[in-house]
Amino acid sequence: MAKILIVEDEVNVSSFIRKGLEEEGHSVDYAYDGAMGLSLACTREYDVIILDIILPQMNGLEVCQRVRERLGYNVQILMLTALGTSEDIVKGLEMGADDYIAKPFRFKELLARINAMLRRRGSSNISKIYSFSDLELDTETKIVTRAGRKIQLTSKEFRLLEFFMANPRRVLSRTTIIENVWDSASDYGTNIVEVYIKYLRDKIDKGFQGKLIHTVVGMGYVLKESMD
Ligand code: CA
Repeated sequence: MAKILIVEDEVNVSSFIRKGLEEEGHSVDYAYDGAMGLSLACTREYDVIILDIILPQMNGLEVCQRVRERLGYNVQILMLTALGTSEDIVKGLEMGADDYIAKPFRFKELLARINAMLRRRGSSNISKIYSFSDLELDTETKIVTRAGRKIQLTSKEFRLLEFFMANPRRVLSRTTIIENVWDSASDYGTNIVEVYIKYLRDKIDKGFQGKLIHTVVGMGYVLKESMD
């Protein structure tokens, strides 16, 4: 059983999700506006927050950002989006959402996403420190350093780097990366991997001695010391 918070102002959507999740044995709270959602998120402990973007009081992107500022990455956030443009999706992910689902969706699809999040949350409780060259990543404290310098990453950038560090010197294709770092099959047609590789390079390679993330033309990307 997981504790789930639904922040959604459309009563029919919210009660449809709540009913389904309760039938699955989860404990569910709900809020109809962003301010109430944020206040519940910060006072009770949840495993997953299902967060709509367009909300009264405070929009979902802002709620997401504030939850991350106050609670860090101890809770999984699933964004609901009716907007469907990749720009809004990228914005949501940048604000710290772990995944998103576009409305309208089938309950089965939502449940699969939530179960994937809960599995990740369960497995991420096992702390592990990855180290490669002068780069270090701690899965518990979420601290990343390069050459002893602390690097701030968003939740998605962190997961992408964690995947690279779990598979050093292995060429990872775009598809492999999407399958392991993103949950949404709908991302296959987008350039989301390229976008995030760029974000990650700007943070972990730029200004440091020697690049660690390399492009293998036509194949994918690899974490390694040098290009030879
Ligand atoms: Ca709404």
